[in-house]
Amino acid sequence: MILERQITEVEKIKITDIFGRTFKTLRVSLTNTCNLACTYCIDPAASNNKTPLPDSALPMGLANKKTALSNEQYIKIIAALNDILEFDTIRLTGGEPLLYKQLVPLVKGIKELGISEIKMTSNATLLAGKAKDLQSAGLTSINISLDAIDPDVSFSINQRAKLQKILDGIDKSIEAGIQVKINCVVMKGMNDHQILSLINYSKERNIIIRFLELMQMGHLYHNFEQLFFSEEEILKTISNHYQLIALPRNPSATANYWTINTDYKFGIISNVSDPFCNDCNRLRLDSYGNIYGCLSDNNPINISDCIDDELQVKERLIQALAQKKTKFSGSELSMLHIGG
Ligand code: SAM
Repeated sequence: MILERQITEVEKIKITDIFGRTFKTLRVSLTNTCNLACTYCIDPAASNNKTPLPDSALPMGLANKKTALSNEQYIKIIAALNDILEFDTIRLTGGEPLLYKQLVPLVKGIKELGISEIKMTSNATLLAGKAKDLQSAGLTSINISLDAIDPDVSFSINQRAKLQKILDGIDKSIEAGIQVKINCVVMKGMNDHQILSLINYSKERNIIIRFLELMQMGHLYHNFEQLFFSEEEILKTISNHYQLIALPRNPSATANYWTINTDYKFGIISNVSDPFCNDCNRLRLDSYGNIYGCLSDNNPINISDCIDDELQVKERLIQALAQKKTKFSGSELSMLHIGG
C-alpha cells in the first residue's frame, strides 16, 4: 500500500499576492562595483575617472569587496529560493557582473541546480575573452548596455572610453552562440540622437535592441525630468524613418515590441509611461544576501541568516512580495546597488 505523505504546514504556505503575483525570475547582483560610471547610475560629481570605482565613490557607504557573498553562499541561497519558487530564469547582474571573479563556476553551479535559463546583464567591456567559457558553463543570454554608437557620446554617458571593448564583447558573444540583446537608456539631449544609428547597428547584427525610459532612481531621484525621453518620443523618432507595427505584449515581459519594415523587431521598456508592475514576477538578491521584492522599495530583507530554515525563508519572501507596488514610484537607491 502506498502511504500518502502528510503535507506540512510550511509546504502549504504559498508565495502569491492578491494580484496573483509571485516570483519567477531572480536577479542576482554579484557586486555593487562597476568599471563604468554611467551618468544614470553614478553622479558624475562622485566619479573620479579611476577604474573600477573605489567603494568610497559609492553612495550610501556600501563598501562591497570584503562583505560580498562567496560562490558557495550564492549557490546555497539560490538553491533554497529555487526549491520554494521554482524559478524560470536567473539573471546575473550588478554593478558589473564580469568583475565577479568566480562568474564561470557560479554559472556552472546554477546550471547544476536544474535552472535552464541563466542570463546576464552586463556592460560587456570585459566580455570578449570570457564569452566562450560563459556559454560552455551554461549562460544562455546576455543583455548588453550600449547607450551610443558614437565614441564621444558613449564617453559622455559611460564616463570611460570603452566603446570598442563593448562592441568587441557584443561580437564575441554572438560568435559564441549566446543570445544577445542591447539595452539603451535614452536621455534627452544626451543620446536621443543615437536612436536610429543604434537601430541600424542592431539590425545589421540581427539582434534586438530595447530602449529604456530613464527611471527616477539614485542621484536622479530628484531631477530626472530634464533628462526624461518618453516612449512616445522614442516612437516618434523612429517613425520618422520607418513604418511601425505594434506587437502584442507577453505576460510579465519588461518590454513592449514593434517591428519596422515587417522584418526587424525592437523594444521599449517604458518604465514610466507604461510600467509593468501589475504582473511583475521579479525578486532581487543583492551581494550582501538581502532580497528586495520591488525596485521602488529600498528596504533590504536579509535572507542569508535564515537560509536553512524554510519557514523563515517563506516568511521573508512574503515580506518581499508585500513590497511590490502597483506603480513604480522611484527609489533613492541607484540600480548599481539593487541590481539592474
Ligand atoms: N553593469 C551592467 C550593465 O551595464 O548592464 C549591469 C548593471 S546596470 C545597473 C543594469 C541596467 O540598469 C542597465 O541596462 C542600465 O542601463 C539600467 N539602468 C541603471 N540605472 C537606470 C535608470 N536610472 N533608468 C533606467 N535604466 C537604468
